[in-house]
Amino acid sequence: MFCHHCGSQIEDQAYVCIHCGVRVATSQDPVERALFPAEGHSWLITLLLAVTVGPLGIHRFYVGKIGTGLLLLFTGGGFCVIWIIDVIRIVLGGFRDKEDRPLVR
Ligand SMILES: [Zn+2]
Repeated sequence: MFCHHCGSQIEDQAYVCIHCGVRVATSQDPVERALFPAEGHSWLITLLLAVTVGPLGIHRFYVGKIGTGLLLLFTGGGFCVIWIIDVIRIVLGGFRDKEDRPLVR
């Protein structure tokens, strides 16, 4: 098969492309799949994190937005304003991950 990222030919059983280092196969481990999904981050996990520990910015860390995650962490969820906006955006489906992919329901 061919790497979807760099186009190099790789082994059919390959898990990671040896040319560019990008993951090409989906892990069989359900925990790893939930934490590092190939197709996008879980809408449900993001929502649960936002509702429970949202003021700490954990849901932003989860989708890869480390910078704004730290911002929320040190400002108490952007003084709870950004946190509430995030929860609304997640519920309405407007929240995206670091690669600008929509969350997967
Ligand atoms: Zn590659």
